[in-house]
Amino acid sequence: MNKTEVEKVKALHTPGKKIVITTHANPDGDAMGASLGMFHYLKLKGCNPVVIVPTGYPDFLAWMPGDSEVMNFQWKKEQALHLITEAELIFSLDYNGLARTDKMESYLKNAIAPKVMIDHHLLPEPFAQYVFSNTDASSTCEMVFDFIAAAGDEQLINKEIAECLYAGILTDTGGFQFPITSPKVHRITAALIERGADNSMIYQKIFNTFSESRLRLFGYCLVEKMKLFKELKTAVITLNKEELQRFNIKTGDTEGLVNYPLKMDDINFAALIIDRTEKIKISFRSKGNFDTNQFSRAHFNGGGHKNASGGQSSETLEAVVKKFEEVIPGYKEQLDYNL
Ligand code: 5GP
Ligand code: MN
Repeated sequence: MNKTEVEKVKALHTPGKKIVITTHANPDGDAMGASLGMFHYLKLKGCNPVVIVPTGYPDFLAWMPGDSEVMNFQWKKEQALHLITEAELIFSLDYNGLARTDKMESYLKNAIAPKVMIDHHLLPEPFAQYVFSNTDASSTCEMVFDFIAAAGDEQLINKEIAECLYAGILTDTGGFQFPITSPKVHRITAALIERGADNSMIYQKIFNTFSESRLRLFGYCLVEKMKLFKELKTAVITLNKEELQRFNIKTGDTEGLVNYPLKMDDINFAALIIDRTEKIKISFRSKGNFDTNQFSRAHFNGGGHKNASGGQSSETLEAVVKKFEEVIPGYKEQLDYNL
């Protein structure tokens, strides 16, 4: 991480400064871990930080230290707007374009405070005055660790910061399985455990706290809803509104479902297409070389990383599924490999 740039930002987060920490809509483990990790760090530095999230996030992330102080823009809009207007510094964590903050976009665009982007997504857009973009990083949490270390404050990392950052690295590496999980990632997680992160507890809280209906939904999807295109080494699961209701699905309940088809040896690419009320939400995952980011950008108005990306559509569920099935044969050669 560029120390000169970090020093410039450090000069801005001095004691008493009003700081707003933002992340992308439907925050995942990395988004919440990075935001709350930064929150605790800035508090230790004597600043007045607040985390504002564009939308809610799943219960399995709601245990992180500082969770009760997170402000949801959907529920506290007036207060949030006041904080954004008054802010002296804004952190943009785990997103590469303001559009990913949903309804907060225009307010963040118009905010006077300088913005600091810390992010690991491809193709960052130029909206921040201070940009820390590293597409080789496993997670934004890894980068927040680097940021704190580059500021000379690694010794400040306490149990609260360590638990948040560990959670984000754990989730964004898929439990340390993705190729991006470098030796450095393991060294950082080791340091976080030494600083008090209870790695076993964090794993349990994130991955082993399903409700009965959530687990039954996974089973239902695998038995009834998973469609295989074996010659394309591809699988797709679709969920309609009736099914979401039947299983009483809440925010985050479908998280992780898209990974299941990849458990099959000869499946390299998996898609999950869900009819959310406002739009169709699509998740893509691959193992090995297939680039889901390019695929999502080309056809589904989205993006992300090589092995994990997302997209969306305002068409009907049927139309999106039809489009998916029409475009995948064009990728036959790119999908045909063995690991
Ligand atoms: P998920 O499938 O878990 O929603 O997203 C997987 C990855 O793709 C995450 O890193 C997320 O930030 C990114 N992603 C998801 N949806 C979109 C989208 O609509 N646009 C872009 N650019 N990235 C997305
Ligand atoms: Mn991330």
